[in-house]
Amino acid sequence: MLRGFTFTIISIAVCLALAGYAVAQEKETEETLRVKVAQAVRMLAREGLVASSGHVSARIPGTDKVLINSRDASREVLQPEDIVTVDLEGNKVAGKGGEPDETWMHLGIYRARPDVRSVIHTHALHSTSFTIARKPILPVIMRGSIFADGVPEYPVARKIINRQHGEDLARVLGSHRAVLIRMHGAAVVGAYLEEAFVAALQLEENAQYQITASALGSVDQLTPEEVEESNRESWKPNSIAKRWEYYRAKEKKALAGTPLSSSANY
Ligand SMILES: [Zn+2]
Repeated sequence: MLRGFTFTIISIAVCLALAGYAVAQEKETEETLRVKVAQAVRMLAREGLVASSGHVSARIPGTDKVLINSRDASREVLQPEDIVTVDLEGNKVAGKGGEPDETWMHLGIYRARPDVRSVIHTHALHSTSFTIARKPILPVIMRGSIFADGVPEYPVARKIINRQHGEDLARVLGSHRAVLIRMHGAAVVGAYLEEAFVAALQLEENAQYQITASALGSVDQLTPEEVEESNRESWKPNSIAKRWEYYRAKEKKALAGTPLSSSANY
């Protein structure tokens, strides 16, 4: 009896905590989101998931507009003023510089998936290698459990540069968390920016472990029960926030002692 009551209280507390986090994301202002998009791009560049190209976008809450890093600004030192605003029809509505050629990738996904508030496009080594070897990504580490329903592949090696390409990519993605693009890269989605950021890192980590283990022989993967437990116990807002803060601290530490221009906003 007491045990059941305790479980109920814990369940209610967890639900309230999750609901509170979702509300907090909805209340994110355009300005705070702009800062976070720039931070995410720089941190992904530092981790090698994006380089001279690759992008992060976020849906501005309550609007049909999206923030995305500009095409030409260097990802390593990207600032909030390097973020442009586009609407879901592909029109740039604010910001200096042009939007990336592959903005259609993001727009196709946002139009098809109302639950998605952030999209990250990477050209990462390990995850992309699976499209070259024509092998499926399997959940081989606990952090890979969020991809246990599979990572589908867009079958043409090309840039996603028009509405049709974007819609086709979104169709391949379906309800999954990530989609690979043949011999090109990946698009990873999240219900909020930090979630997409951590998921993009975990896709690449899982791919790296799978490739490394494959060198030793055949590979095992998480059981359905292990997937369920890992998703329940490790894929939570506080775990995601912890990882985001780790990479924020890592960037700050790397920049310590580096002279910053007065206009820089790290
Ligand atoms: Zn690309």
